[in-house]
Amino acid sequence: MWPTVLIALQIVTHVICHEDAATTPKPKKVLETVMNPAYIPAEEKHGSYWKKSAASTLKSKLKEKTNKNKARNGILFIGDGMSLATVMAARTYAGQLDRGLGEENILEFEKFPVTGLARTYCLDAQVPDSACTATSYLTGVKTKYGVIGLDGNVTRGSCHSQLHKGNWAPSIGQWAIENGLDVGLVTTTRVTHASPAGMYAHVSERNWESDVDVPAECLTLGCRDIAYQLVMDNPGRQFKVILGGGRREFLPNVTGFGNNTGKRVDGVDLTELWHVDKLQKNVSHQYVTDRLELLKVYNSDDLPEYLLGLFNTDHMAYHLKAEDEPTLEEMVEVAIKMLSRNPKGYFLFVEGGRIDHAHHDSLAYLALDETVEYAKAVRKARSLTDESETLIVVSSDHAHTMTVAGYPSRGNDILGVVDTTNGGDGRPYTTISYANGKAASIDTDGLRVDVTKEKGFTERSLDYAYPSLVPLDSETHGGEDVAVFALGPWQHLFTASYDQSVVPHLMAYAMCLTDDQHQNCHQPERLTEAASSAVSVYPYQLLLAQAVISIISCLL
Ligand SMILES: [Zn+2]
Repeated sequence: MWPTVLIALQIVTHVICHEDAATTPKPKKVLETVMNPAYIPAEEKHGSYWKKSAASTLKSKLKEKTNKNKARNGILFIGDGMSLATVMAARTYAGQLDRGLGEENILEFEKFPVTGLARTYCLDAQVPDSACTATSYLTGVKTKYGVIGLDGNVTRGSCHSQLHKGNWAPSIGQWAIENGLDVGLVTTTRVTHASPAGMYAHVSERNWESDVDVPAECLTLGCRDIAYQLVMDNPGRQFKVILGGGRREFLPNVTGFGNNTGKRVDGVDLTELWHVDKLQKNVSHQYVTDRLELLKVYNSDDLPEYLLGLFNTDHMAYHLKAEDEPTLEEMVEVAIKMLSRNPKGYFLFVEGGRIDHAHHDSLAYLALDETVEYAKAVRKARSLTDESETLIVVSSDHAHTMTVAGYPSRGNDILGVVDTTNGGDGRPYTTISYANGKAASIDTDGLRVDVTKEKGFTERSLDYAYPSLVPLDSETHGGEDVAVFALGPWQHLFTASYDQSVVPHLMAYAMCLTDDQHQNCHQPERLTEAASSAVSVYPYQLLLAQAVISIISCLL
């Protein structure tokens, strides 16, 4: 009897399952989307193309040699808010500007031989801000949200914890100066903004950019604002080059400064104090406020020893909107020329700071363009330096919520709508969108905005805000890791996944700025070009002349 029951059960099960399979609709496969094949380059359709391309990559990888030289110079580039999605979208955008398909384009820093991933959280925040991250990648100490140049013992906004020197975290800029190197900073933001402030400031509140921002009781206690610290305190006053925006933080809030009305209520003109400080040191110096003045300094035979350039009262303008301001690339070129004069080497911090601001306003077009400008600055730095002695590290402080989504065809306009499908509501959607931000994707009628009916979108306005899911006044940062690209001495140290606070320690090791010295830290100093040519041509003549002069002066 049991065998008969089992067989009957099997038959019933089979019938039920069969019926179930027949009545349940099959899930729609997303990849049923048909791409537009028109753009595929013919050669890419053959497997041999990809094998050849991989073979050439392998060949260049095999040629790589471990470079354990002393890094005489170090340049740290930070693309503020340059997430990996931003890198991908910017390379595609740049490739499409060059009339390519875009996806295959490579930004300058993507050519670097070594990459790693850095975790970016703050001590007390899952998703970080630019203050705690600047402290991390410039001082090597992780700290709290909103805090710059101080360790995790501080309370944000507490003056007492700011004044306690035990909490101070000196930057790699300071380490470099202590080792006799020259130091500079270049940014497209106010030079007092969170990222550059990580080079020189110790503040428990990132917003204390000028004295008007600091509570009166903190000023009474002796807490100084960020601009003041840059001009009056070490290491800021020792920086050979400072280029960026933010004049208003340095100038008094009184008339008589033309268009340069400042914010300061202490009546102090910090640009004047900078001048006085350099006069007292008896060193040549120059303060410039526009592109032409900067280029004049660059082209003069007689570079000043110290250069301060403040090219905007606020942040510098977006590259696509700028008028008489230098590009990031130009500022980097000037900075490298200034700093290269020190035979002991230099440390330069460069920030492409407005990628972040464009993202905060959901202005994807500007964010991508700023990223391309940043890549141009990296290319310039690479062309002006020698990878046998200069370590260039390119990274970001944190990510953003921008995504590149949908299944657009190869070569589809990166700033356009997905060409293959509409959304489930039948409306088109953009490849680029934000998880949150000021342009909500749902309209007041409860329906999703049709971007193709918006003038700003169809006319490719620089100020078109890309749609986002969660409405917020300002789009937020993202919490995922950022990439680190390295080229030069000890580049191999930058591989793998690590905390962001490791970055300056690795750079300092390569540059011999710490007690932990590698075998090549004691190479003789390189002479500057002028000195070395003089010595190599007339070494004995020079010595003889010196000896004669000292004998004569002795006799006199
Ligand atoms: Zn930001």
